[in-house]
This record gives sequence, C-alpha cells and structure tokens, in this order.
Amino acid sequence: MSSSPTRVLVLNSGSSSLKYQLLDMRDSSRLAVGLVERIGEQTSRLKHTHVTNGDTREQNGPIADHEAALKAVAEELSRDGLGLDSPELAAIGHRVVHGGMFFTEPTLIDDQVLTEVERLIPVAPLHNPANLTGIRTAQSLRPELPQVAVFDTAFHTTMPESAARYAIDPKIADRHRIRRYGFHGTSHAYVSRETARLLGKDPADVNVIVLHLGNGASASAVEGGRCVDTSMGLTPLEGLVMGTRSGDLDPAVIFHLERVGGMSTDEIDTLLNKRSGLFGLCGDNDMREIRRRVDAGDEEAKLAFDIYIHRLKKYIGAYYAVLGRVDAVAFTAGVGENAAPVREAAVAGLEGLGLAVDAELNAVRGDGPRLISPEGARVKVAVVPTDEELEIATQTYALVEKNSR
Ligand code: ADP
Repeated sequence: MSSSPTRVLVLNSGSSSLKYQLLDMRDSSRLAVGLVERIGEQTSRLKHTHVTNGDTREQNGPIADHEAALKAVAEELSRDGLGLDSPELAAIGHRVVHGGMFFTEPTLIDDQVLTEVERLIPVAPLHNPANLTGIRTAQSLRPELPQVAVFDTAFHTTMPESAARYAIDPKIADRHRIRRYGFHGTSHAYVSRETARLLGKDPADVNVIVLHLGNGASASAVEGGRCVDTSMGLTPLEGLVMGTRSGDLDPAVIFHLERVGGMSTDEIDTLLNKRSGLFGLCGDNDMREIRRRVDAGDEEAKLAFDIYIHRLKKYIGAYYAVLGRVDAVAFTAGVGENAAPVREAAVAGLEGLGLAVDAELNAVRGDGPRLISPEGARVKVAVVPTDEELEIATQTYALVEKNSR
C-alpha cells in the first residue's frame, strides 16, 4: 500500500442539492458517486453508488439541510468502507461558485478564506451559502483533513479589463463589486485543455472557443490556455440563451417591466432566471423534447430553437474576432455533448470562417472527446465531454501534494 493517501472526495453543494464523488487519484477512477436532491423538502432523496461493486442504494424521506445531507453521505460512504475517517482520504475538494477577483486558483481553506467566501454572498446569494455549509460540515466531520476550494470563477480571472469591465462608472462598479466574473470555469479549463490534447498540441499553443451548453450555458474564448472572454457576467444570467435564463437582453427591459409592467424586482429576477430562455419561449427546457417538437412541426419550439442557435452563432463569431485565430470550437455539457442538431445548426453557414461539421461524424454518439469537422478542416470542431468533478479532484490533489512536499 502506498504511504501517502490518494483519495479525494469532491463535494458540489447546490442551493437544494449535494453531489459528490470519491476518486482515487492514482488512476482518476471513481470509487463512489452520489447525489442528495430536494434538501429541505419532505421528499428528499439520497442516491449512492459504490462504483467498484456496482451497488446502488436509495434513501427517501426528509433531509433538513446541507449539514444533515453531508452526514447522511458520510454514513453511506462508511457502509462501503470508504468513510471520511479513512486514512486513504487525502483531501476534500469543494466546488465554490463565486470567488470574486480574490481567488485566482484552488485554495486551501482556512478561516480567512471562509470569511472572504462569505463576503461574496451578495453577488452569489443562492450558491455561496450552500458551498459554505458544505465546507463547515466537512470540517466538523474531519477537522484535520485539508479542504480545498475550487472556484467556478477562477479560470476567468485572466480576462483583460477590457473584457471584464462593464461600461459604467468604475467608481460605482468597484464600490459594488460589479464586473464580469464568468462561471463554469472549471469546465472551460478542463475542456479547453482536453481539446488541445485531442489536437495533439500543447494548450499554450492552441486557441479554443468552448461552448458549455447544459441547462445553464456559457461560451468562452481561451487563448493559449488562458481565458480572455466569457459570456456570463456578474451573475450567470448574461450571455447565451439557456434552459430557463434569458441570457443577454437590453437592461432597459427591466425598467420597462417595472414601470410599465408593474412587476417587482423579485418578480423580474424570477422571470429572467427561472422562467425565460428555452422554457420561457416554448414551455420546455429540455433540448430532447424541443427537438422532438421541432421535428413534429411545432412552430413555437422551432422559434425557441432558432433564437437559441442565433445567439450561439453570434458568440462564436464574437469570440472568433476576440481570438483572431481559432484552432478549435469545442462543444460540451448535456446539450453540447448530445444534441447533434444544435452543433450542426450552430456552425451552419460559417464555412467562410473555416468552420463546418461532417454530418456523419456529428451523428456518431460516443463518450470520449472526438472531432466532428471534415478531414483537413482549418478550424477543428470537437465534442469534448466535460468532467468538472475530475478537474476539481485533480486541482485539489495537486495542491495538497505540493503542500506536503
Ligand atoms: P446542468 O449541469 O446545467 O444541469 P447538463 O450539462 O447536465 O446541465 O445538461 C442538461 C441538459 O442537457 C438537459 O436539460 C437537456 O436539455 C440536455 N440533454 C441531455 N441529454 C440530451 C440528449 N440526449 N439530447 C439532447 N439534449 C440533451
């Protein structure tokens, strides 16, 4: 048995969920994965899979809060002999959504870090409190274990001021910490690197446009491994059309809804974050259902799809201009990895930019990174599955290893 521990537990605490994975960093394999959903409701559910022996267990019934959720997860892990008390556990890696400008890389958590994450709650009111509870509970269960925060915003802190600032009075912006932070950074970092690997090149030599299209969606322009622009801003509301978020709109729409529509700020917040995007346009936010409706001749779904694609195409063009030279466009996350019609439509008509997909390659389903552009294409188009948990575990383990040397 090796002397130093090699396992990392990754915790991803959402506003009402807790996802976790236990990885062995010797070979990046999963030992256990699971999810607690609907935390705080009567119908909470914990689903735990012991990957090594394929055993899956489910618990149904109320789980009051994130603390109770993590304790239940720790018990499940213990039942498989993988408990938090295991000497094999090297660290816990926490996904933390908002790290502001302060956190540019994975960070070993201490009281000062917790205070700073807490200070960022006003700009991430849904996420950072859940992340903090996850960290504090984990600390109480294994006080001496290194805990590492991996921030969704960190990868984007390399954006130049010209991309990160809104065109408003900098004094007002700075007073209220208003700037473009970007999110999904762990995914953009992982996918841009994996894309370089797929091309057989060093990330430092490759310019990539990453399109992370899940329920939330964002694009980024990555120049030689460094993010130079991304589509989400102060919050995840800016940018692409998403499952339930509007993405870009004229800010005056908000004043108009207030003054003319008589809506309150909270109502508009809910409208734009939870009842807009694909869902707001056609009543569905699942791309599978939207495509089924489009194929059946549904005009409402077709318009929603067209608006989604139009915005996506505009961002591809914009980031092409930002980068000047593009080596690859990479599609990732639920929609990007699975929806061939989205990929086809997003690059249709962009042959002048050197962009095209090969219909046959695009139709092939697969798990791994793959090229879907025609042989010899100037700009490669790729499908690169994201793996945020692996990226968090890798960054966490690298930091702990470095510190123990
Ligand atoms: P998130 O992590 O943001 O919740 P995911 O990256 O898991 O989202 O993506 C979820 C979305 O992916 C679903 O809402 C659905 O629109 C889309 N999706 C998943 N599978 C498919 C598929 N086979 N075909 C088309 N779209 C899919």
